[in-house]
Amino acid sequence: MRIDIHNHTARCNHAEGTVDEYIQKAIELGIDIYGFSEHAPMDFDPHYRLSFEEMEAYTDDILTAKEHYKNDISILLGYEVDYLPGHMDDRVLNANIDYLIGSVHFIDKWSFDNPEFISGWKNKNIDEIWKAYFEATEAMAKSGKFDIVGHLDLIKVFKFMPKQDVRSLAKNALHAIKRSNMVLEVNTAGIRKPIGELYPSRALLEEAYALDIPITFASDAHTVDQIGLGYDLATLVTKEIGYTKAVTFQGRDKQLVTF
Ligand SMILES: [Zn+2]
Ligand SMILES: [Zn+2]
Repeated sequence: MRIDIHNHTARCNHAEGTVDEYIQKAIELGIDIYGFSEHAPMDFDPHYRLSFEEMEAYTDDILTAKEHYKNDISILLGYEVDYLPGHMDDRVLNANIDYLIGSVHFIDKWSFDNPEFISGWKNKNIDEIWKAYFEATEAMAKSGKFDIVGHLDLIKVFKFMPKQDVRSLAKNALHAIKRSNMVLEVNTAGIRKPIGELYPSRALLEEAYALDIPITFASDAHTVDQIGLGYDLATLVTKEIGYTKAVTFQGRDKQLVTF
């Protein structure tokens, strides 16, 4: 089974392509389970995401497509939600969907992964930034609100690497992820970014495997041609580590399938 659970649509204002175009490409690639996880509405940074008013139309788009393509591919409906205390909304957290991805894109409201705000990295202690990032990830896991951890080590995106061992920086977050029963996505978008690797790194995937944390797969596509990029590498690395199964979701219930 081939799963690809984290993908966007033009509704977030920073992706291109129609729902049909994304699905047709997924079918072409032989993907069995394809999930849409649009950036969920939030009262902070509203430009780069769905609006609350659009939630119903987004849901309708995906459910209509799910029915339309049901003989060719299984379509899932989800959200990628920013972990940002004080800004997470019950309309999203309680939505009738297949899964919620929890992602840390902000440290103290600084959008550290956005090239527009890359200057925020200057004159700062890189190790402290990494520490704050994984503390937020740990708190996200402990909140118990989400099913999947989005791009576990997104903080490496621009290749500002810490002096300290990444495994020790991520240790508490990984334990919290395990305790909260969350799934890690192996997200191939990092290959297209300055860091040029999978999220998470092989070292962190090995730690996750040792803790028996399950995985799933994600292109994090923002254009149609990004679907499936790096999937071969993602399956190769995870199989080498020992993984044979990936998680899919239905109505927030998990199911393990062989990939
Ligand atoms: Zn995005
Ligand atoms: Zn993200």
